[in-house]
Amino acid sequence: MSQHYDLIAIGGGSGGLSVAERAARYGARCAVVERGRLGGTCVNVGCVPKKVMWFAASIAHTLHDAPHYGFSIGDSGFDWAKLKAARDAYVHGINDWYHTYLADSNIDEIVGSARFVDAHTLEVAGKRYTADHIVIAPGGAPSVPDTPGVELGITSDGFFELEDLPRRVAVVGSGYIAVELAGMLNALGADVTMLLRREHLLREFDAMLRENLMEEMLGDGIDILARTQVREVCRADDGTLTIECENGQRLEGFDELIWAIGRYPLSGDLDLEQAGVEVDANGYIPTDKFQNTNVPGVYAIGDVTGRAQLTPVAIAAGRRLGDRLFGGMSDRYLPYENIATVVFSHPPIGTVGLTESVARDQHGDAVKVYQTRFTAMYNALTERKQKTAMKLVTVGAQERVVGCHVIGPGADEMMQGFAVAIRMGATKQDLDDTIAIHPTSAEELVTMR
Ligand code: FAD
Ligand code: NDP
Repeated sequence: MSQHYDLIAIGGGSGGLSVAERAARYGARCAVVERGRLGGTCVNVGCVPKKVMWFAASIAHTLHDAPHYGFSIGDSGFDWAKLKAARDAYVHGINDWYHTYLADSNIDEIVGSARFVDAHTLEVAGKRYTADHIVIAPGGAPSVPDTPGVELGITSDGFFELEDLPRRVAVVGSGYIAVELAGMLNALGADVTMLLRREHLLREFDAMLRENLMEEMLGDGIDILARTQVREVCRADDGTLTIECENGQRLEGFDELIWAIGRYPLSGDLDLEQAGVEVDANGYIPTDKFQNTNVPGVYAIGDVTGRAQLTPVAIAAGRRLGDRLFGGMSDRYLPYENIATVVFSHPPIGTVGLTESVARDQHGDAVKVYQTRFTAMYNALTERKQKTAMKLVTVGAQERVVGCHVIGPGADEMMQGFAVAIRMGATKQDLDDTIAIHPTSAEELVTMR
């Protein structure tokens, strides 16, 4: 006998938990299948432990600046093991909270790996479960290249298991994770080398952001090797790693190598063919704007759909799907435009909307750009002169703001409010008519000429 539900979510991460929670709130009988730890990537090996490490790295930068504000700082020391223990305890607390939350919300937790038997039936640990609606939200996992010696490196998952601060680290990749991990490790005292297969960090971001970030990271002492692809990794006699590159370079003496070259969707072991659910060439599950797959009653949300792989996106897609299926909101869906995002680099990046180059491709001469670059007041006294840079991309005679890009201290907290304004169709004049908050860096966004 199988157990029947109104909705089952495959994956107890950002997306799966959100859709079940919203559906249950409308009285639907729901279950979440999870084979690992509740909370998924974000809570266990993503946003949450990452942000803890980013805070730690930010404290290290502040300690460095403190003498310039009159403080006498001796050897401040740093205990990685203590930080890791506190971070792990925090994450475990969130895992526990989710167990209680699911029970309180009347959502069943099914432990194990789900696979489809047919479009309305799943099998988990030898038991069958049926549902009117099945939501696929298994997320993704770190990719590694097909390179000899690949197993000598770790991924972001392994980074969160490190028991000690590595002395010398190579980070391969140029996206969010490569930039964030390189910045944290460097601030906490490691000697970091980044290997970029092409020219730029964060290739798809606005050029202003990536150029300023490159300058800041180089200024912080990170070695960035562009156009450098790994051919082979070997372990030397002294136990360190040697990297042989395609361009003939040989890099020696690394304690760790971190592969940060993207992620792949965990759609491969769900037996999707039993339900007839289609995947694209990379394993992502295509959906329409309502998160419907090609099979009625089967939906996909979050990273497995390959769009804007961010926690709030998975959460919003899940909640809106719950509203649509059980809340009587038949037209509710998540538009994927104007999604603000932050890269927790040092300094951080906040960005929303179109880059200048995409705006020019779409709107040609109707694009007008405003930009500024300055040293924030905090850095007036410090030896370390971080630059803050901002760009507004506007379109048409009304100068509707279609892009807002900031790199500098505070950019992470700055962007949320501007994302609201841009979503509401703010023009440059609206920003100019807004009274500035002084003295802040954010005020430059409403005073730009
Ligand atoms: P997940 O959160 O990955 O959840 C999927 C769950 O499904 C997992 O728990 C998995 O164990 C489970 N599962 C998989 N297959 C099965 C199966 N067959 N049966 C049962 N269970 C299964 N996003 C941000 O917005 N901000 C950030 O700062 C940020 N930082 C990040 C840092 C790192 C290092 C990483 C890796 C990611 C980061 N992200 C960040 C991205 C964010 O974590 C993801 O976009 C988000 O977790 C996606 O949610 P999801 O529900 O699609 O998948
Ligand atoms: P990204 O897609 O951001 O970046 C990976 C980059 O690695 C690619 O853009 C590519 O850059 C480079 N790359 C790909 N293959 C290779 C290769 N074989 N060798 C060398 N470089 C390669 O992936 P991440 O893993 O950094 O992050 C995955 C996703 O997780 C992000 O896209 C983001 O959605 C989410 N995330 C969000 C965070 C946040 O919100 N702060 C933080 C961390 C992750 P190029 O083509 O230029 O070489």
